[in-house]
Amino acid sequence: MLVVKVGGAEGNGLDNVLIDLAPRRDYVLVHGGSNEVDRLAEALGRPIRWITSPSGVLSRYTDRETMEVFTMALAGKLNTEIVTRLQSLGAPAVGLSGVDGALLMGRRKEAVRSVDNGRVLLVKDDYSGTVERVNSGLIQLLFDAGYVPVISPPGVTARGELINADADRIAAQVAVAMGADTLVLLTNVPGLLREPSNPLTLIPEVPRAQLRTFMDFAYGRMKKKLIAAGEALEGGVHRVVIASSRQPDPVERALEGMGTVIA
Ligand code: ADP
Repeated sequence: MLVVKVGGAEGNGLDNVLIDLAPRRDYVLVHGGSNEVDRLAEALGRPIRWITSPSGVLSRYTDRETMEVFTMALAGKLNTEIVTRLQSLGAPAVGLSGVDGALLMGRRKEAVRSVDNGRVLLVKDDYSGTVERVNSGLIQLLFDAGYVPVISPPGVTARGELINADADRIAAQVAVAMGADTLVLLTNVPGLLREPSNPLTLIPEVPRAQLRTFMDFAYGRMKKKLIAAGEALEGGVHRVVIASSRQPDPVERALEGMGTVIA
């Protein structure tokens, strides 16, 4: 089995991915939707604020109102659109958010550290969190019945609070829980680049043992992909490929090794 994650940042070729996946029955699709969240937040007059962690990782500041927007954009709009499109391409897709069947259970962070002008602040009303348990039985049930699951954040806590968890890391956890062989992280760049603005500087291979060293090349949200890759490999996934969604057959190409292969 294969877990494919498609990004939601501007420039992703979502439709390339769905056309490529449509004939397959051996995958679980996980999606993010950052651009959709930004757009909806803007339209609703609730612009997104960002938090930079002390280690340099950028995340959305998700207060209660932003959590509503996040849910509308991802579990509401985008998930439904993806499932509709897959069905129009003949795929028996079923959409699930992390809340359905407690698919993505986790913990809300009590406080998030945020760097602001060189000072570290504690942010307490943030609904970001980490997924700790994947209801793999539910995914398997759908799979065995011939469906292809399409999964979106948010996750949920045991107390019934929604959590904003990173979709790359969710995909890694789904891959681990399902015993997937390969995790494909499709995004708007060809893979991990030596110089983020130069697509010709692709790093084709990252040996697992050197993942930490290569972390120095990744900025912003690319860092999360490498963290996700590390978690997937640690959990028994054989291979993680970070690749572009911007050209036709992106899944096929990634499986052939076009992109950054971490193994
Ligand atoms: P997605 O929504 O597709 O998952 P993200 O915005 O989360 O996309 O992550 C991809 C982005 O990471 C790229 O568009 C790029 O701006 C940024 N990035 C930072 N460092 C690197 C790097 N070394 N190589 C490639 N991309 C990088």
